[in-house]
Amino acid sequence: MSKFFKRTKILATIGPATNTKEMIEDIIMAGVNGCRLNCSHGSNEERDQQIKWIREAAKKKGKSVAILQDLQGPKIRLGVIKDNRLELKEGDEIILESKEFEYDGGLTIPVQYNLAEKVKIGEPLSMFDGKIKAEIIDIVSETAIKAKILNDGFVMSKKGINLPDTDFGGDILTPKDLADVEYGANCDYDYVSLSFVQTANDILKLKQLLLSYGSRAKVIAKIETKKAISSEQNLEAIVKASDGIMVARGDMAVEAGAEVVPIVQRKLIALCREHAKLCIVATQMLSSMVENPEPTRAEVSDISTAVVQGTDAVMLSDETAVGKYPLETVKEMKKVILFTQNHSRVATINKLPTSEEFEIYNAISNATARLAEEIEADAIICQTASGATSFAMAAERPNLPILTVTSNQKVANQLALIYANSAFCRPYSEEFGLDLVKELKTSGYLQTKDGQKDLLVVLVSGDKDKFGTDTIKVRNV
Ligand code: PGA
Ligand code: MN
Repeated sequence: MSKFFKRTKILATIGPATNTKEMIEDIIMAGVNGCRLNCSHGSNEERDQQIKWIREAAKKKGKSVAILQDLQGPKIRLGVIKDNRLELKEGDEIILESKEFEYDGGLTIPVQYNLAEKVKIGEPLSMFDGKIKAEIIDIVSETAIKAKILNDGFVMSKKGINLPDTDFGGDILTPKDLADVEYGANCDYDYVSLSFVQTANDILKLKQLLLSYGSRAKVIAKIETKKAISSEQNLEAIVKASDGIMVARGDMAVEAGAEVVPIVQRKLIALCREHAKLCIVATQMLSSMVENPEPTRAEVSDISTAVVQGTDAVMLSDETAVGKYPLETVKEMKKVILFTQNHSRVATINKLPTSEEFEIYNAISNATARLAEEIEADAIICQTASGATSFAMAAERPNLPILTVTSNQKVANQLALIYANSAFCRPYSEEFGLDLVKELKTSGYLQTKDGQKDLLVVLVSGDKDKFGTDTIKVRNV
């Protein structure tokens, strides 16, 4: 039908491999709908520059692009290791010291976080994506802990530390996160994601903080701790407290075991669909393409599975941040998404989208999706102020594009990551949905089916000051 309509969205991490105006423009042209700027690496100045480049590229392409600020949370990292390699043997006892000291390459190792405040003796600790396992055997000072190494191996500078059983006591925002939130609140971010979320309370605290700085960014919980997935209730409470979640498969595998990841992924996608929240499946989706121009069969299958399960977005990490083939990776991902959506519809879930808050939106969206498919419409058009109508519409996972028109650019950017949504910002008028369709038809962006003169669209709208979303119209344009 028309030239766009990739319904599952692509979120790409920006890093050294994509850190130029040209590369950012190229990957957006190739199908990227959102960019992740990672606070674990790089400086505020670099991120300011990247935001500028992304906004310029989006404007040039006439497409809304979401920008996500990723807070590292208690992502604890080793400090700088002498010669960037330290061999460790089973039985070694290491000290992780957070105070500044002159590191000589021995077994007292610098760490960027004061573990002594949080951990308990007997808790497990792992380093370097789980390659080194250890057990905490002593708290040796107010700033240092001792751990016993359980297997041979090595660590390198800045590698991550995982503490799957440590309770951070409802205080996962580190001083660095607080500074990043304060700085980021005045930057043009559409989403803020928080790493290592344990409970809904972590998200509520971040939301309050953002509000206090006047930020309108939506909040994403990265699901990667053992605690977050420890019970269905806890997981659902996090989903409900957030605007969206990321299935952060990298750290989740280290914390809880790789075998739990596929089941948690399926559960989270269903929960997000049920509550009309954004879902992002992340990590290692095309990791072999960091080094190679071709993906593995398993990676292609993984993307296709996430699409059929009905995720809103799939994410690229190292592939676009530090990989050798960032552009090829985006193109490959888009190809898999398009082929999958053209040959299989999104799987149904047991529960229909529900929410006490948006009961009417949900009922109207459900009716709209069924109507649009029944009459074989070309697209669903949403007129929305806050974006809630489009979130609810997407939660139905209709098998056709959703065009959203809003007079709020931030809302349009946020919708860039939502299933099937192409969002446009136009000055408000009662008929701005139909006007948009006419405009897109004239420009060739929307094309009629073979042998047909008109586009058949289903329009959802309402007046937010009266009844909210309350009108469904069928129109030939
Ligand atoms: P990260 O999060 O890339 O920031 O670690 C994603 C994950 O852990 O999978
Ligand atoms: Mn992570």
